[in-house]
Amino acid sequence: MSSIDLEVLSTYLEIPKNALIFLTKSEKEMYINLNLLMDNGEVLQADSYVVYYNTVRGPAKGGIRMAETVTLEETRDLAERMVWKCALTGIPFGGGKSGICLDPKKLSLFQKTTLLKEFVHEIELELKSGAYIPAPDLGTTPRDMAVIYGATHMVESVTGKPPSIGGLPGREEATGKGVAKVTLLGINKFLKKDSSKVTVAIQGFGNVGSWTAYFLHKAGCKVAAISDYKGGLFNKQGLDIEEAVKQQKQRGEIPLAIGGDKITNEELLELKVDLIIPAAVENVITVENASKVKAGLIVEGANGPTTLEADKILNERGIILIPDILANSGGVIASYIEWRKAKSGAITKVQETYETIDTLIEEIFNKALSISREKNCSTRLACQILAANEVLKALRERAWI
Ligand code: NAD
Repeated sequence: MSSIDLEVLSTYLEIPKNALIFLTKSEKEMYINLNLLMDNGEVLQADSYVVYYNTVRGPAKGGIRMAETVTLEETRDLAERMVWKCALTGIPFGGGKSGICLDPKKLSLFQKTTLLKEFVHEIELELKSGAYIPAPDLGTTPRDMAVIYGATHMVESVTGKPPSIGGLPGREEATGKGVAKVTLLGINKFLKKDSSKVTVAIQGFGNVGSWTAYFLHKAGCKVAAISDYKGGLFNKQGLDIEEAVKQQKQRGEIPLAIGGDKITNEELLELKVDLIIPAAVENVITVENASKVKAGLIVEGANGPTTLEADKILNERGIILIPDILANSGGVIASYIEWRKAKSGAITKVQETYETIDTLIEEIFNKALSISREKNCSTRLACQILAANEVLKALRERAWI
């Protein structure tokens, strides 16, 4: 499975036969049988993967996912998305990803830390050579990145660290900041509404979802529904987002006492709101529910929340979709600033992080709009065309094809 339909893409731009060798297969895949002997004598085991999908544009960049659902196929798919995301944003990184198949909620802090140290030990050469630069993803946090830094002793070996130890002010909220920025651009361009008149439903209230909610709420939008893995809350008049964010940061879950009716994650995607932001996991908008979506705009906060088949249905129904490789690129934009800062020793202020994300995302959004008008194609395809052009250029310039 690929995150891009290369057959469709090739009807819009010429993809040389030799390039397909690099675009249809990943470059390098590692399997690690990660395990840890615990106090009770049992061994905690986790299948783990590191995938470099393509590094023609730079070292493999991509988060570490820790979830029970992690597979090699998923890790590969996410690594591929990183190739397109870095290319779209013009960041000189390639696409990578790693996954540890374990539910972090079942681990004590000590167990998680020890397991991560073991993971670093297994991929020490990749990290210390700068070939792979991880960051947080589903189930991992800035604290985990600090553990990785502690094990490599190289500040540029990992991004998404806490600012107190060389992390970037604004990196924690960067992805949500970018999702909110592109959402506001989308509200203006596609919904043609004032943000205070817009109702939003956000699925997932972790790093991406909660910060997206925070920035959209601050911009005046009515965040009417939020959810986490347990389910969600809905209030047409808008939820108390400040309280929800505060409590999420303290307890890791959304509180129930913020006013609103209980809903399921499935119901959230079918709510009668102006826009929905899936910001949790992949494949939540499928052929089963694509025809039931009532929102006019979808912004993909998560990676791959819409299946290729569902995408076609949404397109036919005239529902506008801002794709993951643009929508959640604020994270990798900030990661690049953090990595550069680690290399140079520069000091970056939070406002600079925000401004870089906002400016770059607006630039790409406008470019994608003009391509989609020019070629009469979806915003997703327009972003893919822009990204693929950059990858093809690098393949030629590095004499890989
Ligand atoms: P996170 O672990 O901080 O939060 C995930 C949230 O989703 C939690 O609220 C969790 O309860 C909820 N959730 C988990 N399973 C769910 C399910 N089946 N249904 C509904 N909700 C569920 O993760 P995150 O870092 O916010 O990442 C979310 C998505 O954004 C992922 O697809 C990730 O790849 C993508 N992403 C993250 C970043 C980043 O900087 N963290 C950057 C780009 C993309």
